[in-house]
Amino acid sequence: MDYEITHIAMQEEFKVCPACGYKDGFHSMFKRKGDIIKWLFICPSCHKVFDLGFIK
Ligand SMILES: [Zn+2]
Repeated sequence: MDYEITHIAMQEEFKVCPACGYKDGFHSMFKRKGDIIKWLFICPSCHKVFDLGFIK
């Protein structure tokens, strides 16, 4: 894994990047961890990866 995953708590909405302030939402990525698949979000501007606790 060549990137860091930032865990943040889901608030009212998740639209603005907490790292760089980009305002227009996130790309999605999915990562298997054992029996679950984590749904992660990537900022299109600074490329940080966020985990809000969503799993499939
Ligand atoms: Zn960002």
